[in-house]
Amino acid sequence: MSRTVLMLPGDGIGPEIVAEAEKVLKKVNEQFGLKLSFDYALVGGAALDATDNPLPDETLEKARNADAILLGAVGGPKWDSLPMASRPEKGLLGLRSNLKLFANLRPAILYPQLASASSLKPEVVSGLDIMIVRELTGGIYFGQPRGLRELESGERQGYNTYAYTESEIRRIGRVAFEAAQQRGKKLCSVDKANVLEVTVLWREIMNDLRREYPDVELSHMYVDNAAMQLVRAPKQFDVIVTGNMFGDILSDEAAMLTGSIGMLPSASLNAEKQGMYEPCHGSAPDIAGQGVANPLATILSAAMMLRYSLGEDKAAEAIEAAVSKVLDQGLRTADIMSGEGRKVSTREMGEAVLAAL
Ligand code: ATP
Ligand code: MG
Repeated sequence: MSRTVLMLPGDGIGPEIVAEAEKVLKKVNEQFGLKLSFDYALVGGAALDATDNPLPDETLEKARNADAILLGAVGGPKWDSLPMASRPEKGLLGLRSNLKLFANLRPAILYPQLASASSLKPEVVSGLDIMIVRELTGGIYFGQPRGLRELESGERQGYNTYAYTESEIRRIGRVAFEAAQQRGKKLCSVDKANVLEVTVLWREIMNDLRREYPDVELSHMYVDNAAMQLVRAPKQFDVIVTGNMFGDILSDEAAMLTGSIGMLPSASLNAEKQGMYEPCHGSAPDIAGQGVANPLATILSAAMMLRYSLGEDKAAEAIEAAVSKVLDQGLRTADIMSGEGRKVSTREMGEAVLAAL
């Protein structure tokens, strides 16, 4: 059975880092006989420039038909003066909502070779390996009603609605419990159930789900405490599940524990496990075109793709082992360079991963 991977390089450093990940995917495709075929499309600013639309119909159609999508990054200063509704970022949000990618998985792993790049002391972060599961298509970012209104007093009020239905909570809960089953069997659900009714329901549904996953140990934590615990003792966590906004904040916090945003992959999945995979970082316009960007977050995103959407765990593990090997060899792009090590370009890093495979 042949499967299609859609490549969406996007803007800024996107094309440079996706090119390296593509070489790596093609290599494991051969090595492991995966029968993957590759397709290409425009999204973001690149699509705006070519078609006046950040998400052309052709791209959406290809995305719907693909088994998985690898995205670089979108956006950049060139398009910053456009109105919000026609910015490159609309292309990315359109993909997320059209494909119903409700589950965002962000692992935060500290590679021992990079311990000195972390913002925390080595003993606090060494061996760190946590996974944040963030709900991506609901919560306060999407709740209705929302807007700006004028009160009787004449004063203006901005407002948003924080809402989750039982089924929305249940489906993200299942993704998180399943992730925990495959990892350290510990799940921490983060909410603000002492203040927000919506998260009282969240907590209730998570407790309910636990009965289906008896091998997973479930705990609950208020988001303020979770933010503190993440920097105090992050290794107490295995999988964290939380809503859209809390997940946005906590996953950026967790990212910093690992040293560089250039190392962090992400997956966004729908109910069919179709997924879009992309580095956690943006298009890095400040270094675009210089050949210095770190391609490892994108290469590791390709590994997540093999694991979560294509069921090719062995190939995923091979890529992850190859990344670890090049770090052992002391190869460093500028963002992860601290003291010793040999500074390499985007392409040299990609070639080194290929050689390690
Ligand atoms: P977005 O809004 O798209 O998330 P952003 O404004 O948050 O973008 P990024 O594009 O992620 O910012 O860049 C933030 C900083 O991190 C920049 O200084 C950028 O050069 C650096 N950076 C991001 N990705 C990489 C990478 N792969 N390798 C090296 N440095 C990177
Ligand atoms: Mg950002």
